[in-house]
Amino acid sequence: MARPKKQDENSTHIESAAENKVPTATPITKGILKLAKQIDATTVPAYVIAKLGDDCLPDCCFKNVSKMVKRHGGSAQHGWKMREQPAAFVEGEFCAVWRRPDGVLIDVTPRADHPKKILFLPDSRLVWDGSDVESRRLMLRETPCYCGSEMPFNICHGLAED
Ligand SMILES: [Zn+2]
Repeated sequence: MARPKKQDENSTHIESAAENKVPTATPITKGILKLAKQIDATTVPAYVIAKLGDDCLPDCCFKNVSKMVKRHGGSAQHGWKMREQPAAFVEGEFCAVWRRPDGVLIDVTPRADHPKKILFLPDSRLVWDGSDVESRRLMLRETPCYCGSEMPFNICHGLAED
């Protein structure tokens, strides 16, 4: 059986294929604001423009940011990349973005979903010391699933039944 060749397998079409899938920015919802308040009540989440930095690799935001600081100046801003799984949970992932010498924050790390901007909560206290920082999660509805998994219904059988 011959597999039809998809257009995006051809490297010249990669850019146009990415443009067709216009990523929508994470909306600032009540859940996001609630989690933000729990993490750091002194700052608020804001959008940070995504612009890939030189030699920056996926999942290496701390290294990427320190590379950019060495080459171009500025500094690292630690904080939380916020996202929402609608009707299930909101999540904050600890990461770093680059504060350009002119003060503008830039997300220099390549990300799987190619966002134009990320929702970022600057952390006023936490500075990365090299150890893992666990993601913070807030369940939007804590109804336990009927199957006894002790997971909330929304992220257990609730997902499958949608
Ligand atoms: Zn279940």
